[in-house]
Amino acid sequence: MAKVIALCNQKGGVGKTTTAINLATYLALSGKKILLIDIDPQGNATSGLGINKHDIKHSVYHLLIDDADPRSIMIGTQVPNLSLFPSNLNLTGAEVELVSAIGREHKLKKALAGLLNDFDFILIDCPPSLGLLTINALSAANSILIPIQCEYYALEGLSQLVNTINLVKENINPSLVVEGVLLTMADYRTKLTNEVINEVKKFFNEKVYTTVIPRNIRLAEAPGFGKPIAMYDKNSIAAQKYEDFTNELLGIKKAEKTEQNIVEQNQHNDNNANELESIGEGEIK
Ligand code: ATP
Ligand code: MG
Repeated sequence: MAKVIALCNQKGGVGKTTTAINLATYLALSGKKILLIDIDPQGNATSGLGINKHDIKHSVYHLLIDDADPRSIMIGTQVPNLSLFPSNLNLTGAEVELVSAIGREHKLKKALAGLLNDFDFILIDCPPSLGLLTINALSAANSILIPIQCEYYALEGLSQLVNTINLVKENINPSLVVEGVLLTMADYRTKLTNEVINEVKKFFNEKVYTTVIPRNIRLAEAPGFGKPIAMYDKNSIAAQKYEDFTNELLGIKKAEKTEQNIVEQNQHNDNNANELESIGEGEIK
């Protein structure tokens, strides 16, 4: 049964899409089956995965407005195990058209019901607003992941976001929880970054992830090449941090990961030894 996580913060440019693409990629590379839903008319998660927004025939718009079959929307990506519901500017119309639709807050949830057994995680990349598209995401989600940029106005608007989460919990989706808060674009050369990190930790306490994503030029470049950071520059610090973050979200600690690698390596060595032995036996016979 898939866990559905909405990446949400109504503030623009805080790293929602970058986190959605790279978390989805590292989860998929770890062997999980992933669906990424681009519910933002900007279509940045779509283009960031190398898909031409203008070529899309069926998008999240058709899912929400025409009740299209979700499988007719779904497309594969360059990342194995990662499927996408793409979007483009057409989706802007959906926000208006949904206003008069019956069950308008639950359209996405309804559409996903038949897909939950096909995936381990469904990630939803929300637009920078708290309109009906975001409400659809929060209605469909089990949890909300909040990226926060390490900048002066980081906390501004967060009480509005928390209010919206509480309203959704009271009226639409009582089981919605905050998955966690991810600090992004940290620049440790400035005193401000540490101040913001401390402020955010005071506000969200243990919900803040230990992994912090640094400001890194390779992350800013990657969408222009339509690639996740794992494919664009897997040795960059940004790639390492998004992989660390993915493991943190999965509850895998670094030490455990090393142990797991050692166990896997030993198994691999054992298998090789067995193979060598049986080859040897074969030769003797
Ligand atoms: P929007 O609210 O418009 O949807 P967003 O919250 O999805 O924005 P992103 O699109 O992920 O934010 O990031 C905003 C810009 O910052 C993009 O150009 C992205 O490439 C860049 N960016 C994101 N994270 C980093 C980072 N850690 N280092 C450098 N640049 C980054
Ligand atoms: Mg975005």
